Amino acid sequence: MCSWRVTSSIAAARKSDLLGPPGTGRFCCPRAADTYAFHFRGARLIRLENVTKIYNSEVTALRDATFDVAKGEFVFLVGPSGSGKSTLLRMMNRQESPEKGAVWVAGRDINEMPDSKVPHLRRNIGNIFQDYKLLLNKTVHENVAFALEVIGRPKHVIRQQVPAVLDLVGLTGKEDRFPHQLSGGEQQRVSIARAFVNRPLILLADEPTGNLDPATGEGIMRLLDRINKTGTTVVMATHDQRIVNMMRKRVIQMDRGIIVRDQARGVYE
Ligand code: ADP
Repeated sequence: MCSWRVTSSIAAARKSDLLGPPGTGRFCCPRAADTYAFHFRGARLIRLENVTKIYNSEVTALRDATFDVAKGEFVFLVGPSGSGKSTLLRMMNRQESPEKGAVWVAGRDINEMPDSKVPHLRRNIGNIFQDYKLLLNKTVHENVAFALEVIGRPKHVIRQQVPAVLDLVGLTGKEDRFPHQLSGGEQQRVSIARAFVNRPLILLADEPTGNLDPATGEGIMRLLDRINKTGTTVVMATHDQRIVNMMRKRVIQMDRGIIVRDQARGVYE
C-alpha cells in the first residue's frame, strides 16, 4: 500500500537520493504521471542520530539524542517543561536544524535536503498543537479544506476528503461553525482533521490535551489512537501523566535535553 504521496520534484530526484541510511529501507520508483507515490519499506521511519541543538550559542536544548521511530509506532515524549520535547518535534519537520548530528525521515537526511524539497517533506507530516492554531475567520469545513487548497489539491478531491475526515473526527453536522462556536475538544478535533486530511505518514502532536479537561483529553487520545491504527506514525509531547499511563505506548523521557529513558509500553514515572 502506498502511503506517501509526493510531487514530481521528489519523484524526479536521483534514485540514489531515495536510498536511506543503512537499515532504513528504501523507496520504490514513482508510478503515476502527475502525483507520485512511494513505498517506504524500512523499519525506521524517523531516526535521530546524536542530535545536539544549541539555541543562540548558549541554551543546549538537546544533547546527543539518538533514537529510531518505526513506521506505525506511537511514541510519547515526556519530561518537565524546558526539557527539549518541542525542540525534538521541530527537528522532525526541519523547523529546527541540529548543531551536530543528523535527522532522517523516510530514508532521507532532512538537513541535507535542498530548501525546495522541504514543503514536500512537510506535506507528509501533520502537526497538532496545544492551542489548535485554527483560522478564526474560517469555518470548520474551510479550515480543513484550506490545508488541501494550499497544496493544490483539486476541488473534487477536497469535496470528497473534507467530509470524510470530519466524519472520522466526529464533527459531521458542525461543518459551518466558526472556531469560537466550538468547545476546546471540538477545536482540537478540527485541528486533527486538518493535520490528517492529507493522510500524512507522520503526526507530530505538541501537548494536544494540554488545554482540555480529562474526559475531553481522553476522547482526543482515543481519536489519535484510531488514526495511529490506520498506519500513521504518531509522536506526541506531553506532560499528561494520566494519559501516558492510560495508553501504555512507548515513552521517551527527556531531562534537560538528554534522553534518560526509552521504554516500550511505558508509564509516566
Ligand atoms: P519543552 O517542549 O520540553 O518545554 P523546549 O524544547 O520548548 O522544551 O525547550 C528546551 C530548551 O530550549 C528550554 O531551555 C527553552 O527555553 C529553550 N528554547 C526553546 N526554543 C527556543 C528558542 N527558539 N530560542 C531560544 N531558546 C529556546
